Amino acid sequence: METNMLIGGSFETGTETEEKVLNPRTGEVIITLPEASAGQIDRAVGAARRAFAAWSRTTPSERSAKLLAIADAVEANLEDLAQLEALNCGKPINEVRNEEVPAVADCFRYFAGAVRNMHTSAAGEYMEGHTSMVRRDAIGVVASIAPWNYPMMMMAWKLAPALAGGNTVVLKPSEQTPLTAMALAKIMADILPEGVVNVVVGQGASVGNALISHPDVDMVSITGDVATGKKVLQVASKTIKRTHLELGGKAPVIVFDDADLGRVVDGLKAFGFYNAGQDCTAACRIYAGPKIYEKLVAELSSAASGIVYNNADDSLNEIPPLISMRQRDRVASFVERTREHKHMEITTGGGAPDGLGFYYQPTVIAGALQSDEIVQREVFGPVVSVTRFVDTDQAVEWANDSVYGLASSIWTQDVGRAMDVSARMRYGCTWVNTHFMLVNEMPHGGMKQSGYGKDMSMYALEDYTAVRHVMIAH
Ligand code: NAD
Repeated sequence: METNMLIGGSFETGTETEEKVLNPRTGEVIITLPEASAGQIDRAVGAARRAFAAWSRTTPSERSAKLLAIADAVEANLEDLAQLEALNCGKPINEVRNEEVPAVADCFRYFAGAVRNMHTSAAGEYMEGHTSMVRRDAIGVVASIAPWNYPMMMMAWKLAPALAGGNTVVLKPSEQTPLTAMALAKIMADILPEGVVNVVVGQGASVGNALISHPDVDMVSITGDVATGKKVLQVASKTIKRTHLELGGKAPVIVFDDADLGRVVDGLKAFGFYNAGQDCTAACRIYAGPKIYEKLVAELSSAASGIVYNNADDSLNEIPPLISMRQRDRVASFVERTREHKHMEITTGGGAPDGLGFYYQPTVIAGALQSDEIVQREVFGPVVSVTRFVDTDQAVEWANDSVYGLASSIWTQDVGRAMDVSARMRYGCTWVNTHFMLVNEMPHGGMKQSGYGKDMSMYALEDYTAVRHVMIAH
């Protein structure tokens, strides 16, 4: 197991406070890691700054070749990376092996192609005697801060467009899930020039804060909580750093009476509980039409109660435990507070199972009202609420009545209604008759307090490059 940070060309351990990295399936300590010192963070930023001059002047084709080599190396190490991610996050091994690691490789491959295909306005003589052109150039040193729910995938979403655009990066994984970041750092160090990618580990309040405050960092990219995004904005305002914020979510799911119930239930079982709901797009806030409501609650509750999650044979497990005891306590407290209100009913789940680890039962809460906390706040656990609506306008109003604006879905067999309602949704993404599906060619990112800036797609490459005008007098 790699236990070193990558600072310039050197692999080193931190020298400050030790952080326990836990196995969420058992609660056992996997390893104890000391966090980076202020001096180490400063050297990492310095290494990225020194590497920037040469890396930003490489051709798209040269950068593309490096990204393709990273994708190949990820695939060559697929099993080891998958095992490590599964260990650190408690994720079912098949999910990581078959979905998440391949998605990491595909992300590097997408940006390897995208960087060779950037488009801008036509160069031309927009003023007599002068030729203008638009360039898209690298921004500089990017501080990338990742969360714990998909450590490797978030790392790829941040590194691939930043590197493709010619930037250099200092990345900090979540203190709870640093293991695959250190393994990937080792892999990338064999491929990239020294200092192009640096990885430091430690807590947000110490290492994260020192990194985003560093005067030599030009851009901060963070995926995390809304409160963390607000802190980043405050710090970034001191030196007007660029920011790219992927924050929380509370995805509304509007199920109209004409929806295919079987398809809805299969979809919600999969997309409401994937990764134990620790997903910013989780299909967790369901609005059901008056005629489909009762059947939906009954069939979804039955489907959720059948989800396999703490079998000793991990190949059978469909969802992981929560990442920590703290996160499980947080999720449980949301569910406990719903018991104080008679109009809500916990139709399945509602507690932690006996045994080891940070598991929580897949839970459905029926009868929730728009004003209820369970409808308004992000739980980030395997808990979905169901609310009955009267008509389309009410469903759209309630769906949009949220501080979050990341993802949403509509379930109906009426194409006209799907077009109309999707146009009225104030969310970065609206799926129709599905949920959760992401592809590297399409943008992912929020509106409202879910943040701004896109991951994946050409739009991410735009976010990680600066538009510049060059004008030549004849
Ligand atoms: P978090 O905000 O606690 O931590 C995210 C990262 O920020 C961690 O690496 C942490 O160490 C760091 N951090 C915390 N405080 C910091 C500070 N003051 N300065 C600098 N860095 C700091 O979030 P989390 O608990 O790791 O992740 C869960 C949250 O992330 C949820 O709210 C979820 O919705 C959100 N999320 C969003 C997306 C998206 O694409 N929009 C994807 C995944 C997760």
